[in-house]
Amino acid sequence: MDYEAVIGLETHVQLRTRSKMWCGCANEFGASPNTNVCPVCLGMPGVLPVANEEALRLTALTGLLLNCAVSSVARFDRKNYFYPDVPKNYQITQYAQPSTANGYVDFEFNGGISRVRITRAHLEEDVGKNFHFERNSGVDFNRAGVPLLEIVSEPDISGADMAYEYLNALKDILVYGGVSDCDMEKGMVRCDVNVSVRPKGTNELGAKIEIKNMNSFSGVRKALEYEIPRQIEALNNGGKLVQSTRRWDDVAGVTEEMRTKEHAHDYRYFPEPDLMPFEPTDAWLAEVRKRVVELPLARKQRFMRDYQLPASDAQAFVWDVPLGDYFGNIAKQAKNPKAVANWLINNLRARLAEAPLTPSLSPSDGERVAKPGEGLVNLKFKPEALLELVGLVENQTLSSAAAQQVFNEMFDTGESPAAIVQKKGLAQVSDTGAIEKFCDDVIAANPGPVADFKKGKAAALNFLKGQVMKLSKGKANPSLVGEILERKLKP
Ligand SMILES: [Zn+2]
Repeated sequence: MDYEAVIGLETHVQLRTRSKMWCGCANEFGASPNTNVCPVCLGMPGVLPVANEEALRLTALTGLLLNCAVSSVARFDRKNYFYPDVPKNYQITQYAQPSTANGYVDFEFNGGISRVRITRAHLEEDVGKNFHFERNSGVDFNRAGVPLLEIVSEPDISGADMAYEYLNALKDILVYGGVSDCDMEKGMVRCDVNVSVRPKGTNELGAKIEIKNMNSFSGVRKALEYEIPRQIEALNNGGKLVQSTRRWDDVAGVTEEMRTKEHAHDYRYFPEPDLMPFEPTDAWLAEVRKRVVELPLARKQRFMRDYQLPASDAQAFVWDVPLGDYFGNIAKQAKNPKAVANWLINNLRARLAEAPLTPSLSPSDGERVAKPGEGLVNLKFKPEALLELVGLVENQTLSSAAAQQVFNEMFDTGESPAAIVQKKGLAQVSDTGAIEKFCDDVIAANPGPVADFKKGKAAALNFLKGQVMKLSKGKANPSLVGEILERKLKP
């Protein structure tokens, strides 16, 4: 029998706020254990939480970026459970009435655009972190109370690769929107995966199996590549799957059962009595709406549509936000935007990588990184200089090799291309009289290759062309050289 996988993801993302969710402690990574703590986030008796307004704004902003409706009333609830990293013995979350719900994410997959619907995005708080040493264990509460967004998708995902692309698209959107830094290394994004299989073409869902606490997108993909065939094989062997929770062992490359439904938690949710329901006003929402940015996919499509860029160039400008913004400003005046894009992607990016003017301008580690708000500053040359350079190549004043020299010089000194061409004598010779003379000299000096060419050895022409270029010190217009040589050597 043919089976298909049905996958939904719950993605937890730490919000980019200065302070924690209910107290004034710093929301920062890497501080010494238990230094960013206070009676509130340690869950001392008698303390009262005060909601972080920026976290509420970022939650509403996420809703807008994910095409969700922002609720006119959101409530906080207590999710009760006992665990060493939860000092209050409950977590404050939004259960019955989340801040935002009913949206979707569109992303590129398999050569087309796929859509995953978003059930809800709700605000909660992170918990502390347990550490296990050789003889004892410890808890670091620095992370306890950090604002955390949980983004729950509908089970619209059908495979490991699709899950991976969805997660990357989601991350790009959140980084673009300034909602979260989504730094995986710092544990800012974590994921629970719900996966079941069912006979292809049927509508009923199979037993839901949850893989908890994934902290990398590639891990999610690997876990699904293991788990989907495991479930199918179990069914094919006449087995029965039960609702359960599993963990992914990255070293062994397998998922392992942690608990089945009989041991599932009952969290005894009830309304948080210490917090008022949150009712955003129109003015408050309007302020949040101002922070909505163009989404990465829309940006890519705009670059492809408005400037006829190939997908790979447009993608480079999506990942490298400052470079893309810079391109967008020049491209409006460019006759040949693709040529401008080539200079930026192939040359400017390489020079900036050598001596970065702005930090992490390009994705360095293969991760998809965008840094909004970092302009392309301190460039010595003016944007118009790039247009001038493109023009000089197009009107054949500059060979492509000479143009590279001019670019490097203008990058270093800020001089205009025309001035550099003049100073260095780089202008290409397109004067046919001068080139005819070079060709005649080369033909006279190389009777052997000339004879070879006449006998039909086409490669001999390239040799002669090379000799003319050498004689002209690289300045002869190569296409003219080719034309003139061929004309002269034709019987
Ligand atoms: Zn605190």
